[in-house]
Amino acid sequence: MPTTHDQPRVPAHLTGIEDAVPGLAEHRAVTTLLNPRRGNPNEGQSSIGGPLRWPGDEPWPVCEDSHEDWLGVWDEADTHPLTHFGDVWTVRLAFANWNDVSEAILDKLRRYVTVAEVREAGPVPLIPVAQLRRQDVPDLPWPDDADLFQLLWCPMEHGSGGPAPVVRWRKAAEISGWGRADNPFAVADRRYVPWPCVLEPVRTVEYLPDAPGIAAALGSWSPLAPAWKAGGLRWWRTSEPECCDAPMLLTLTIGPGTPEAWFGAVPEEPDPAGVELGPGNNFALWRCAGDPAHVRLERALRHALPTIDASVTVPERLARAEEEIPGLAAHRGVATMLRPRPGEPGVRENSIGGPLLWPAHEPWPTCSEDHEAWLEFEANSPYPDGLPLDEMRGPIPLLPIAQLFRGDVPGFTGPDEADVMQVLWCPISHHMALWCPKVSVRWRRAAEITQVLEHPPTPPGMAGPYLPRPSLLSPERVVEYDAWGVPEGIRQEEIDWYEDGEKLGGFAGWSLSDPHPVHCACGSDVQLLMCIHGYDIDVTIGRGYSLWIWSCTTSWDHPVQTSMQ
Ligand SMILES: [Zn+2]
Ligand SMILES: [Zn+2]
Ligand SMILES: [Zn+2]
Ligand SMILES: [Zn+2]
Repeated sequence: MPTTHDQPRVPAHLTGIEDAVPGLAEHRAVTTLLNPRRGNPNEGQSSIGGPLRWPGDEPWPVCEDSHEDWLGVWDEADTHPLTHFGDVWTVRLAFANWNDVSEAILDKLRRYVTVAEVREAGPVPLIPVAQLRRQDVPDLPWPDDADLFQLLWCPMEHGSGGPAPVVRWRKAAEISGWGRADNPFAVADRRYVPWPCVLEPVRTVEYLPDAPGIAAALGSWSPLAPAWKAGGLRWWRTSEPECCDAPMLLTLTIGPGTPEAWFGAVPEEPDPAGVELGPGNNFALWRCAGDPAHVRLERALRHALPTIDASVTVPERLARAEEEIPGLAAHRGVATMLRPRPGEPGVRENSIGGPLLWPAHEPWPTCSEDHEAWLEFEANSPYPDGLPLDEMRGPIPLLPIAQLFRGDVPGFTGPDEADVMQVLWCPISHHMALWCPKVSVRWRRAAEITQVLEHPPTPPGMAGPYLPRPSLLSPERVVEYDAWGVPEGIRQEEIDWYEDGEKLGGFAGWSLSDPHPVHCACGSDVQLLMCIHGYDIDVTIGRGYSLWIWSCTTSWDHPVQTSMQ
């Protein structure tokens, strides 16, 4: 456990950065990463989702809100959006020491309850979220006379969405007796109920992302330490709330993330505490500088929320969705639909299945992974495709899939210095269970390519399902919503929240399996780079699914991840 005397640990990507960027030291902050590990914390320990050391003479707090703003939305609906708390909790305890139990599996075990049952259950007791001891977590903005911090919240939706927090700042030595916790009947979202975790706090340093010179020095590395963290700096685009006429103090940042990823290692479990308000969001808990009991919980985006302007199409079916569904706006995204149409694209055009702007001197990439499983399957197939299997035993040249230019495609993301994105794949089913091709992404500067490779090698005998029809593109930006991020009840509705088709950015649909988090091999979060749907380009992914391509949020150089839905 750290003490106030522990020196903060500096991650490799920030080592020496103050020498490289003059004046940066002023924008440095120290924070305590809570570093949760699933386990069985007791009342005396610092914990997330553990039992609180509660005074015997103090009633357990209940939420004052009637929650009717939110419950009312469901009166007319056939779905029962809330989950029985006892079920969630039983599962949490039963699997407390398992790191690899995914929420998707647990999804099968839950019971929904009706709005009527929730009303009947009456006032909602709060649930323990965190208990922190001053000697373990020195960087929380402690009031002078406190050495124990307790955070509880009401696991219903409030105001613009999210739980309602209550805190206690205590002196541990003054607590007498043993107060009993009460449990709520239901929760609005399972992800508001933390997995019980013990903490192994680590102090670290971080820098203001707006500090002059830092973006250039760090490239795509983050200057901000991940959640859960105490004190430190606010995440992207979080407002700075005020209370009692003064700015509030950032107390806790809550969300997925682990110290391992921050320090360059691969985490055992990317999100041990399992509290999240949809991909892309953290929670920030602020406390009043005057009265530390005044707190506010806000969404702190891990990415900027896109605005809807004249350049963005809002599909008819979603035109009134934000007005009608409280909190939905926070889950808004904009995808760039590529809208392919058959054509003969040139090397300096946006394309799917077209020729790539490839430097003449650069070797064409090949896939030298083991294709034996597929070759054997094909050789024994009762419906042979007539492929020259013998020629397909060596390394296979990759096939161009897409080429996009930053200037022509709104929503283009990539390394700052790149203005061309090239997607290629090995046109053989890898991962036999998934039946999808292996994807590789290249980033380039168009101006640097003067001599273009004229006759790139092609894979032998390609006529299969992974050869896209050459197509020109007419990109269009379209609003969509993160169907997995919106509160659980809402996503049961029969609305198409996202677009199907060849697209850049936006959100993944989960049609084939339950949603599950995708992570880079380095342990970082990923973002959706591109989706290949296939229908409009004569490609068949699996039995007509889509291929989702994810890029690492820590480095554009890390290999992309794929999933099929
Ligand atoms: Zn409440
Ligand atoms: Zn206040
Ligand atoms: Zn391959
Ligand atoms: Zn990565």
